[in-house]
Amino acid sequence: MASGLPEPEPLLTLVEALRCLPGVGVRSARRMAYHLLQRDPQGALKLGAALTEAVTGLRHCERCNSFTQDAVCATCSNADRDTTLLCVVETPADQNMVEASHGYRGLYYVLQGRLAPLEGVGPDQVHFAQLLERATDGVVREVILATNFTAEGETTAYYLADMLRARGLTVTRLARGVPSGSELEYVDAGTIAWALMERRPTQG
Ligand code: ZN
Repeated sequence: MASGLPEPEPLLTLVEALRCLPGVGVRSARRMAYHLLQRDPQGALKLGAALTEAVTGLRHCERCNSFTQDAVCATCSNADRDTTLLCVVETPADQNMVEASHGYRGLYYVLQGRLAPLEGVGPDQVHFAQLLERATDGVVREVILATNFTAEGETTAYYLADMLRARGLTVTRLARGVPSGSELEYVDAGTIAWALMERRPTQG
């Protein structure tokens, strides 16, 4: 640490802990720590309790891999959903965006990641086996690939399309109204609804 002053152990521990957040270095971790301690100790206590509760109380849905308190989440248990459609997204945030478009009544599978060969993230790290098992339950007819239109998202879609088509499934990809390089999380609901409606079969 850059500071020349001796600092109390709990402060150092807090700064170190905050660094687990993506994109947070020592300097911003330190700013956050000072803010929490000086300006918002109540908020800090709430944050600590919420973190503990979320981490210990949540698990991955057995069917869609999203976060849930029960073995199977509310979406997967909803009898009104179309069980023949499975939409594959990278994150729960992307799932929320597709849901907010009101253009989809099928079910989901949340990868909780994407292929990123340059970062050493391969198929084994993203647990594709669970998706394969889910998609080949005999009920799913079409898998809609709604990974992001970034290099990593496209690589993931390409890989999954191959893998799923080989199992005899119809595999489609969101239409290209979504700008290249964009993450679903930042695309408006209308565009996502359109991209779903205009989805295209993937090419072998
Ligand atoms: Zn689920």
